[in-house]
Amino acid sequence: RGPGASGGPARGDLRVAVIGAGMAGILSAIKLREAGLDFVIYEKADRLGGTWRENTYPGIACDVPSHFYSYSFALNPEWTHRFAPGPEIRSYFEDVARRFGVASMIRYGTEMVRCAFEGGRWRLKTSDGSRDEADVVIAATGVLHHPAYPDIEGIDAFAGAAFHSARWDHDVPLAGQRLGVIGTGSSAIQIVTALVDRVGELSLFQRTPQWITPTPNAPFTEEEKAVFRAHPEAMQQIRQEVADRYIAGFSNHLSDMNSPELLLIHEICKTHLESSVKDPVLREKLRPDYRAGCKRLIMSAGFYDAIQRPNAKLVTNPIERIEPMGVRTRDGALHELDVLVLATGFRVDRFMRPMEVRGRGGTDLDTAWRAGPTAYMAISIPDFPNLFMLNGPNGPVGNFSLIDVVEREFAYIMQLVDQLRSGDCREISVSRGAMDRFDAERREAARHTIWASGCKSWYLDGDDLPTAWPWTYDRFRDEMRQPRLDDFDMR
Ligand code: NAP
Repeated sequence: RGPGASGGPARGDLRVAVIGAGMAGILSAIKLREAGLDFVIYEKADRLGGTWRENTYPGIACDVPSHFYSYSFALNPEWTHRFAPGPEIRSYFEDVARRFGVASMIRYGTEMVRCAFEGGRWRLKTSDGSRDEADVVIAATGVLHHPAYPDIEGIDAFAGAAFHSARWDHDVPLAGQRLGVIGTGSSAIQIVTALVDRVGELSLFQRTPQWITPTPNAPFTEEEKAVFRAHPEAMQQIRQEVADRYIAGFSNHLSDMNSPELLLIHEICKTHLESSVKDPVLREKLRPDYRAGCKRLIMSAGFYDAIQRPNAKLVTNPIERIEPMGVRTRDGALHELDVLVLATGFRVDRFMRPMEVRGRGGTDLDTAWRAGPTAYMAISIPDFPNLFMLNGPNGPVGNFSLIDVVEREFAYIMQLVDQLRSGDCREISVSRGAMDRFDAERREAARHTIWASGCKSWYLDGDDLPTAWPWTYDRFRDEMRQPRLDDFDMR
């Protein structure tokens, strides 16, 4: 390339540091390689796969259809099911990373502990004390990453095995055991459904019931897989159809809690509950008092069957404390257990932290995010130049393919990187004015979303305002096509 509009020299030598080798980090590496940029991926663990490496609990599967939860450029004819099990997804990412030649670019066991923008470059420090420099940092560090442990008295006193759903201890035997599960999110529902027939007794401690959409998970037949191998366009077609269906029937309507589409989903969930649960007492215990979609929708065909098994018990009396023998509820009952699973979710306000991040003039991220994490278009923060996030704060994160989201975000980021490459500028981040405007509009729109319709969930910030993308998915796609460069501070 020749000189940029501002007359600066073109820079073909940009170095990019990607943090995290999960779905978004692998995608970044593949695209950076295609673009001919120098890059490195830092990964704190000894294996790639992000959430699919961390979460290995029994029953783990992706509740987004397999051909949609795949990179658009690496469709997979071998998916065994409509909704692929977790280990298969992890293998898929490992396989793609190898096939696209980026697996060897990952520095494993190297946690990034500090990134500071000094003298026009990012100065990086890792946990082993080594240092690096980069012109651009891409934070592909995930959202649901740091386990949230419940603040329940006596939790350390439990005599049996206790662990978080994202820290599954596979050495603990389950056959015939008395298993307790705290939580009724997507993780807990998959665990309960998978384990009820393996354990002796299962107690599910429910603080809040959940709406569940009936979602059968049929396997792909050998004939279907043969068609996919011979005609990849058949997978592309499925991907497109699923995306269109999700967007038209769901994702475009989350922004309007009164939309007929969301009311229809509510009716589907209600019918699912009423036609599946026979005992009226149990049915009412399982019936949420808020709108379907307010919390993240749970997709399951088997949960209502599982919780009606003779060895399953739904405990709705609040937990008083945990004792060596089990869980004591407020009514005085002791629910004796051998194994306790904390399916209690994640700290969703962390993003790339605990890493120390310092932008221009030493601005530190904890200070910039004092009022809660925000990012323009979920990607850029004022005064943190050449730092871009994938699946950053305020992005679309509800029951949709995060792969589709990340591919669009990455294409947008590459257009910002092109401003640097062409020499048009050496530093680029959203301007303060554009950030403030985006945030004000986001906050106003958030009040009308389904997540604000009257429930608690991880979508809400400390002021109970939904933090996710509050507009339609169509708007997200439009925004991601091309950055509005006027909104950026380019130096
Ligand atoms: P979650 O949705 O945040 O659910 C946490 C559960 O723990 C809630 O039921 C919560 O109750 C309960 N809980 C937390 N603290 C508690 C306490 N002190 N006492 C009693 N109950 C307590 O977490 P998750 O199930 O791990 O799911 C998190 C997200 O991961 C999902 O929403 C989804 O985005 C993603 N995920 C996706 C899949 C997939 O198939 N794609 C699978 C699993 C997870 P309250 O509702 O009362 O707060």
